[in-house]
Amino acid sequence: MSTSTFVLPVSLALQLLTSASPSPQNTATAPSQEPAPKSPATSSVKATPPAVTKLSAAQQATAAKLMGPALAEGHAYARLAELTDGIGPRLSGSESAEAAVQWALRSFQADGVKAWKEPVKVPRWVRGEEHGEILASERTRGLPLALLALGGSAPTPPEGITAEVVEVGSLEELAALGDKVKGRIVFFNHTMSEAADYGRFAGLRGRGPAAAAKQGAVAALVRSLATASLRTPHTGSTRFDEGGPRLPAAAVSVEDALTLHRMLQGGTVKVRLVLGCSDLPDADSSNVVAEVRGREKPDEVVLLGAHLDSWDVGTGAHDDGAGVVMVMEAARLIAKLPQAPRRTVRVVLFMNEENGLRGGRAYAERHAKELSKHVAAIEMDAGGGRPLGVSLHAGPGGEALLWPWLAPLEGLGAAKFLVGHATGADLSPMEPAHVPFVGVRVDSSRYFDVHHSMADTLDKVDPQDLSRSTAAVTWMAYALAESPGTLARPTAPESDDPPKKK
Ligand SMILES: [Zn+2]
Repeated sequence: MSTSTFVLPVSLALQLLTSASPSPQNTATAPSQEPAPKSPATSSVKATPPAVTKLSAAQQATAAKLMGPALAEGHAYARLAELTDGIGPRLSGSESAEAAVQWALRSFQADGVKAWKEPVKVPRWVRGEEHGEILASERTRGLPLALLALGGSAPTPPEGITAEVVEVGSLEELAALGDKVKGRIVFFNHTMSEAADYGRFAGLRGRGPAAAAKQGAVAALVRSLATASLRTPHTGSTRFDEGGPRLPAAAVSVEDALTLHRMLQGGTVKVRLVLGCSDLPDADSSNVVAEVRGREKPDEVVLLGAHLDSWDVGTGAHDDGAGVVMVMEAARLIAKLPQAPRRTVRVVLFMNEENGLRGGRAYAERHAKELSKHVAAIEMDAGGGRPLGVSLHAGPGGEALLWPWLAPLEGLGAAKFLVGHATGADLSPMEPAHVPFVGVRVDSSRYFDVHHSMADTLDKVDPQDLSRSTAAVTWMAYALAESPGTLARPTAPESDDPPKKK
């Protein structure tokens, strides 16, 4: 496809790279189609570390070689179009997930990057016919509900389930109701309004339905975890205990959650729910692994991860097509350098992040003996927004070590360390091996507008934001692979800061 509508002029790309001032305001001199980055909406910046040493002229030239094409060529966005428009939704175990594996292998080959598959057994949950409605009563003629079954949901009988609805705002509130929810449909309501709320309320979707099942409920409805809605439900996975009771569970759109809440203020509400989903036997699938071997210490690995699977609605453009094309582009550009970095840069496109994390576990298991030589891991799985800065989960001294290497990110407005630990669902199985995590954090303030919904399509990804984050992750991967020193390893897994599960 043509990239002429979104490429950044090369002159501007170079201006971004060679700018002398560390201030984001420097870009105010850029042509008007390139607005200066706004201040981060969701991240606070750490104080600047002291003792700034400078990159050598050769290192700055390498930065320009890597970041210039990332900013100017539009290659990552063109790839994202192939993955989203060309292959579409790619839930684990589906034919399109396998098509995505083949596409990734072909693309790496075209880029001159060595790549291979590693086997992963994935769960295979399939959506069926689904609908629901608020039944007619003296207060309404009846209303259809906009809903999506949650991944992992049990089906209803073909004729559906009809029951009274009981609303709760937390797992504690549900527990306090005891067996009063027996025979009822539990409706999990919340007040998510910004991206930062996701962690607070994700447990209602992930664990609420299982808890309701244990208390005898017959179904569950969860308000979509969303920061915007045009009556679009947002799915996601829900987990039931092995051998424990299951029930049919669906996400309703924000508007339908508000309607249910209003109707429940006035009295009893009955809902009929039909979910035709099913569990098929586990399927054979793969992680796709690719690498550019290091010139001096090839056994030391800088891992770049993203997940190839998506939900079965939308086309997974932000989640996580954007991350996939960013890390693929990093490998392509690093492989084109006349000299490989000191260490190996390895890209892992994980399978089954969304509904099982089997790919992340399979990688950590298969490579267990190498994990002590994984010197850093970056996971890109927060959408295709512009880069904001860098976060770490490492031992002491990490910021001082990396600070000089952040200089090329100045023109992107991302040469800063952000508060908060670097995490990643697919990286979490590597935590016990004390692998240092590095976050190339992107602006996720609008990510949950479309996350896990029919609306997560290519048009929601801004080509310039994507190219800027691609440039940032490409440079950070190179920096971690080339820096003479490596990050100290984190001393213990963070027990108080569990990895974000999306
Ligand atoms: Zn994701």
